[in-house]
Amino acid sequence: MKFETQCLHAGYSPKNGEPRVQPIVQSTTYTYDSAESIGKLFDLQEAGFFYTRLANPTTNAAEEKLAALEGGVAALCTASGQAATFYALMNLVESGDHFISTTNIYGGTYNLFAHTFRKMGVEVTFVNQDDNLDELRKAIRPNTKAVFGETISNPTLRVLDIEKFAALAQAANAPLIIDNTFATPYFCRPFEYGANIVVHSTSKYLDGHAVALGGAIIDGGNFNWEQEKFRQFSQPDITYHGLVYTRTFGKAAYAVKARVQLMRDLGATPAPQNSFLLNLGMETLPLRMKQHYANAQAVAEWLERHPMVERVNYPGLASSKDYELKQKYMPNGLCGVLSFELKGDKQTAMKWLDSLQIISREVHVADIRSCALHPATSTHRQLSDEEMRAANITPGFIRLSIGIENPEDLLADLQNAFDQIK
Ligand SMILES: *Cc1c(COP(=O)(O)O)cnc(C)c1O
Repeated sequence: MKFETQCLHAGYSPKNGEPRVQPIVQSTTYTYDSAESIGKLFDLQEAGFFYTRLANPTTNAAEEKLAALEGGVAALCTASGQAATFYALMNLVESGDHFISTTNIYGGTYNLFAHTFRKMGVEVTFVNQDDNLDELRKAIRPNTKAVFGETISNPTLRVLDIEKFAALAQAANAPLIIDNTFATPYFCRPFEYGANIVVHSTSKYLDGHAVALGGAIIDGGNFNWEQEKFRQFSQPDITYHGLVYTRTFGKAAYAVKARVQLMRDLGATPAPQNSFLLNLGMETLPLRMKQHYANAQAVAEWLERHPMVERVNYPGLASSKDYELKQKYMPNGLCGVLSFELKGDKQTAMKWLDSLQIISREVHVADIRSCALHPATSTHRQLSDEEMRAANITPGFIRLSIGIENPEDLLADLQNAFDQIK
């Protein structure tokens, strides 16, 4: 099946007389004919549902679709994107370990890495993604267990050179984890460039309608876990009567271990209702992404020509320093998120934002309705002037998430806001 067809049909094939649409299985529990069959489920000797914290048919359908769309071997859905990133790493590290991340990452991920993991005794080294491989390799330590980056970073909109980071991960003998939230598998499939694990905040484009928080981990099935460094995959797990993940689950060892250890113990399970909404959203992913890209490209080009705009940040512009990387990794399109700097002070930017009528003022990004945010007075308002300069947040800096409205209405709304600050 091609991508568009997988969006509709992967993960669920109803048999004679069954519902055409994967139903919401709103049940925490499942019933069996004998004590023996329940015992086999607990020992992971048989596949099946026994408790929704570990697996649920509605969520399973979304997981199989996600694995197909990314080209992976298995997937695990979580209650949020944050939980997905946390589990993706927790499945690899323990106290005393180390991993490498780029600096251009989502704010929540930065806090998780720099503060929460450090409190648990896991250290992170942040690297500059513009550095060459020789420079990057200096961050590698014997206990480096993962390398992490975002395909298109939120909110800085930098494009990652995935192949360079795959080479770094290989040099570290560790898997490359890519957060593919902004690109979506429609525009970029990181496994094709050497990534080993993909994570998503499905709360963004995959759901697409801003109705269901969620996350996902997709296992590329392309990393060799049978080595001393990752012995948790190839040595017996006493909590499952000595089960060996690599032996029993082969290429899906990473995804299965995340489910049966981390979901069992930490429990950030998505609600079946949310998995249903995620599935519904993914059905139209290609149509929506095409329109997000066409609209955002039109808005970016229009803003770049506007006399009241200082600069525009969108990798789809030929003037962008990441344009070549965009052409290589996402030749068919990009996300709808962009940012720009308008000429004027903080007051002017606030008045501009307040004048928008169709585009709403929101903290969220990446859904079908356009929205805007002024970081200096919202997400970054606690920072000192100096810290803001370091984060590249200027008084006139605006983040836009372009939806799928008619682009003429969006340009008219933007122009009207500029007219109010003349
Ligand atoms: C939103 C976001 C997250 C966090 O996801 P939640 O679903 O909000 O927990 C992680 N990474 C990126 C790139 C995001 O945009």
